Amino acid sequence: MTLTRRQFIHSSTYAVAGSALLRLPLSAQTPAQQAPPVVTKFEDLRRNVGIFTGRGGTIGWLATPDGVIAVDAQFPDTAKICVEGLQQRSPKGIQMLINTHYHGDHTGGNIAFRPAVKTIVQQERCARLHRDFTTKNNTVDSQAYADLTFGESWSTTIGDEKVWGYYDGPGHTGGDAVIFFEKANVVHMGDLMFNRLHPRIDRPSGASIKNWTRMLERVAKKHKDASFVFGHAKPGLPVTGGAQELLHLRDYFDAALGHVQKGIKAGQSQEQIVGVESLPKFEDYASSGQVLSLKGTLTSAYEELTSKT
Ligand SMILES: [Zn+2]
Repeated sequence: MTLTRRQFIHSSTYAVAGSALLRLPLSAQTPAQQAPPVVTKFEDLRRNVGIFTGRGGTIGWLATPDGVIAVDAQFPDTAKICVEGLQQRSPKGIQMLINTHYHGDHTGGNIAFRPAVKTIVQQERCARLHRDFTTKNNTVDSQAYADLTFGESWSTTIGDEKVWGYYDGPGHTGGDAVIFFEKANVVHMGDLMFNRLHPRIDRPSGASIKNWTRMLERVAKKHKDASFVFGHAKPGLPVTGGAQELLHLRDYFDAALGHVQKGIKAGQSQEQIVGVESLPKFEDYASSGQVLSLKGTLTSAYEELTSKT
């Protein structure tokens, strides 16, 4: 059974965001309609590291004479195109696929990578969420799971590059990894970065806006001169950028948490608090559906701030 767009939208994995949105308005995404062909693209970033865009979260890659490492896998259709392109970039083929988190637009394409890749790597919480979520959704047969998992941090060397994965607590989900290409100085943020797009906050899996906010600050400080790869972006904006974009999202979350906190203190209802039209200074953030919206963010912030656990 393959993970169709319909199942994807109807599952809790809501991120139809990013590059897919550039070409396909949400109103056109009725299940009965065939989606138009997806435009895919390979782009070089720096020092043998690049990105692949198609449908779903941005794929990052490193190509060396000793093999390729890919970060995230989108969906099976675009993953297949990505695999074919990456295989041509090194005589040793694809050595490794790393997933930043368990969502279907980052792991759905694992199955297309599986025959071509030696090892699939996930942070251990991501691995658990991937298993649990796909078991619950009866899509186990269309998945490829991790062969290797790590806790706090992990690294590997390929060619003359050192690649790191690290976990810095809950963020977009309960298990997101940050992937760092040391010599290229490129950081793949997965969905810890939405560029000027209201982000998805996956509370059922253990997301935390508070920790996510501080994490953005920590990562921006630690890698202040790095080039960053973002999971998704507002249509028309790049899926790559600098530390300042991370700090912009940090400020957005601080503003959202501040707004909700103030409302709670003033005795406002949840409806009043989350129903505001805009968040001052962050009016340019784009929405996608009901979840990736200001209301979605404020609802998650409200739940987080009023949660007893
Ligand atoms: Zn995601």
